[in-house]
Amino acid sequence: MSQEAIAVKLPVVEEKKNTKTYPPVKGGEFIIQNSKAADFFISEEFEEEARMMGDLVRDFCIKEIQEPFFKNGRELEVTNKEDKAEMLAILKRSGELGLCSVSIPEAYGGMGLDFKTNTLISTKLPHGFSFATTLGAQTSIGCLPIVYYGNEAQKQKYLPKIASAEYVASYALTEPTAGSDANAGKTKAILSADGQQYIINGQKIWITNGGFADIYIVFAKIDTDKNLSAFIVERNFEGFSIGAEEKKFGIKGSSTVQIFFDDCKVPVENLLGAREEGFKMALTILNGGRIKAGAGGVGGAMFALNRSAEYAKTRKQFGKSISEFGVIQAKIGDIATKTFAIETALYRTADLIDRKEANLLANGATANEAKITATGEFAIEAAICKVKGSDLCCYAIDEAMQIHGGMGYAAETGLGMGYRDARITKIYEGTNEINAMLAVGELSKRALQTKELDLMSAGKKIPSFVLSQINPFRSTSDEKEQLRILQGLKNTFLYITGAAGKHFKKKLVDEQEIIMHLSSILQETFVAECAYLKVQKLSKKADVDKAKLAIQQQMVQLYLYDALATAKHAATEAIASFATGGQQKRHNRMVRIMLKPYYINPKVLRRNIAQAVVENGGYNF
Ligand SMILES: Cc1cc2nc3c(=O)[nH]c(=O)nc-3n(C[C@H](O)[C@H](O)[C@H](O)COP(=O)(O)OP(=O)(O)OC[C@H]3O[C@@H](n4cnc5c(N)ncnc54)[C@H](O)[C@@H]3O)c2cc1C
Repeated sequence: MSQEAIAVKLPVVEEKKNTKTYPPVKGGEFIIQNSKAADFFISEEFEEEARMMGDLVRDFCIKEIQEPFFKNGRELEVTNKEDKAEMLAILKRSGELGLCSVSIPEAYGGMGLDFKTNTLISTKLPHGFSFATTLGAQTSIGCLPIVYYGNEAQKQKYLPKIASAEYVASYALTEPTAGSDANAGKTKAILSADGQQYIINGQKIWITNGGFADIYIVFAKIDTDKNLSAFIVERNFEGFSIGAEEKKFGIKGSSTVQIFFDDCKVPVENLLGAREEGFKMALTILNGGRIKAGAGGVGGAMFALNRSAEYAKTRKQFGKSISEFGVIQAKIGDIATKTFAIETALYRTADLIDRKEANLLANGATANEAKITATGEFAIEAAICKVKGSDLCCYAIDEAMQIHGGMGYAAETGLGMGYRDARITKIYEGTNEINAMLAVGELSKRALQTKELDLMSAGKKIPSFVLSQINPFRSTSDEKEQLRILQGLKNTFLYITGAAGKHFKKKLVDEQEIIMHLSSILQETFVAECAYLKVQKLSKKADVDKAKLAIQQQMVQLYLYDALATAKHAATEAIASFATGGQQKRHNRMVRIMLKPYYINPKVLRRNIAQAVVENGGYNF
């Protein structure tokens, strides 16, 4: 595709300096506090410029990837030289249009968009299939270490070139012996005798963009250090080499290679951040990356849903459109509901990061400090976004293929490619298991070690909540019912955490199955509350589309209904893992009271939601 054929170009956007301050919010506090809908950011509040950015990224992906390739039943495959050159050329063209500059500050040639807008853009990238991974590595893990931790000279030297795509960036953390256990790497750096260079030896694997990158953010331990340090390594540094492209199951258009360091000489000025700051840096960057990975998952689900709605409407069997069958409606209604709810969680998290950053800047923090602290604060929410978004993506594309029947298996629909491409989202940016456990582990650290979150006091309120639920005269308005369910979810999490903690004490950390159950409850609580808050906020707006709002309200009902079922299953299994006899019965009774049924008709809700999606010609919520 020629440059001329692309009629789009990103507008020149002036970086907005946010001078507002916001009420302080702590990461993870959603489990012990109820948020106000008024403070909650919803996607309808994006300004026109942000929406345009999203649309332009989507259009670029359609023109550069969908039209020339998969619509012709062809997939880019970087193990083939021409395709590799084509993927690099597409990335360079995206740079000319400004797409590589979205997270780089204006002072270094970027647009310095806020986290929310970057998240919105990430929901559009799946239109480019494996290009999403290529561009994502360039704008996120490949450049943010320099944006967040770089000194002035490093920023001046590298960021403008990454923003224009003159340089392709990559991030090299994983090693053969260090995957989930990222700090266990063996790559070593030693200061040269003259103190001018670090000499690096070792190997990294699975490096996205590695086959054509110009710079690599490399993590290695210096001498006998306990923790990693980070370095900016240029492709032409002596002692650096690149392996062959990996043959992969999916995202075949994105470059993935091993890289090798054989007495690789890195100037001392290329140490990024402070010595031994690399592990913290890796986690901070992954926190941000996780929200964008979740956004990519939600975008992938939207793509799958739109294809499904379009196909189900036109495909006729037994004399009618398959979209009229209950089974198909149940699938479409379910995917739409989960997409709606998880999308609200993305923007809540991204907005909390933007607000925290603004507050820190107002209090005198440097730009680097503000970005690092704000991203780290919402590690729990980021992990939830990653797990829920990637799970949703894989589920939605699988169901989309099913809705397409045999056509789903045809290359021209792109669903097979989407199915394979989606699968990586559960593995990279930290596997979903690691992220799920991290969410609970981080919460308990903030409760027990740093004492930032007072879970104990919140837990003390459980008996009065349980008593209120036994009262037969309790109010049954739908809004109160929804609040009752949200409180029940929160209390169930606190109750099981308390009971399991009492049983296992410090050894609870070794009970991974129970932690995974707790994480399920935590995840459902966060996402359900986000969906609830969005609809609460929309309900109070005068200019709202009433028909759309009616469907969004039903989505909240359905999500809460499903969240209750998930939480009940998780809680019952967790209890059975440590309690027996009368104690098990008592715990189960408490859970039954805290998670009382929600009397709605899920079949009708899914049908209504599906009909709205099909009539709209796709997702529009
Ligand atoms: C296509 C692709 C692109 C990638 N791009 C990059 C990149 O650009 N840069 C980079 O640095 N890395 C990259 N990675 C690496 C990726 O981040 C890792 O593969 C991922 O973190 C998992 O590590 P691992 O593969 O070693 O799996 P392992 O850590 O060996 O995990 C294997 C299984 O064990 C589970 N597991 C591991 N530890 C625990 C535990 N403590 N408790 C319970 N279960 C556990 C995992 O959840 C998983 O199910 C990429 C990988 C792929 C496949």
